[in-house]
Amino acid sequence: MRPNRFHNVLRIGPVRVGDHHDGRGRTKHTAVCTAPRCDFSADYNTRAAAELAAHTHRCNPR
Ligand SMILES: [Zn+2]
Repeated sequence: MRPNRFHNVLRIGPVRVGDHHDGRGRTKHTAVCTAPRCDFSADYNTRAAAELAAHTHRCNPR
């Protein structure tokens, strides 16, 4: 999943958090891991939730 209009992009370790509009007047907050072989990405309704997810994300969980 790759929204093409990220703004306010913040990098936390390998994870990027960006805001984008969902086309219906709302802003969504997406966390995407950029590490190779990690395809973590998720949408959140709040910036705080997205940043928390980025902080707590661990690549290659066992
Ligand atoms: Zn990862």
